[in-house]
Amino acid sequence: MSDCLFCKIVAGEIPSAKVYEDEFVYAFKDISPIAPVHYLFVPKQHISGASEISPENAEIVGKIFTAIAKVAAEEHLDSGFRVVTNCGEDAGQTVPHLHFHLLAGKTMGWSVEQGV
Ligand code: AMP
Ligand code: ZN
Repeated sequence: MSDCLFCKIVAGEIPSAKVYEDEFVYAFKDISPIAPVHYLFVPKQHISGASEISPENAEIVGKIFTAIAKVAAEEHLDSGFRVVTNCGEDAGQTVPHLHFHLLAGKTMGWSVEQGV
């Protein structure tokens, strides 16, 4: 999608700090980290958010979680990590391209007001 921030990052038109890439998935450091480890995992294909997952494109979610597990193992996130996807206005989604936040490096609380 031509006017999408994360499509532009995937295409290399906007710089990012890459942490992982394969044929289907791209991952990079969040520009405003809220935890010591804060990466974003995105499909290379444009999907606007979790509400747009369907039987036709759901395979990408498994590929993204496989990539997350690989990076977590490589970075020795042995004491745990959190994966979050925000969908829509109430959840605070600011970029309408499906992305999963990988958060780690601190003990996290649990509340809907403050995810970390
Ligand atoms: P969300 O609010 O769940 O839609 O997450 C969007 C995330 O993208 C936020 O955590 C932002 O800090 C992050 N972000 C926005 N622009 C960039 C960028 N150019 N490079 C890396 N991360 C970004
Ligand atoms: Zn996009």
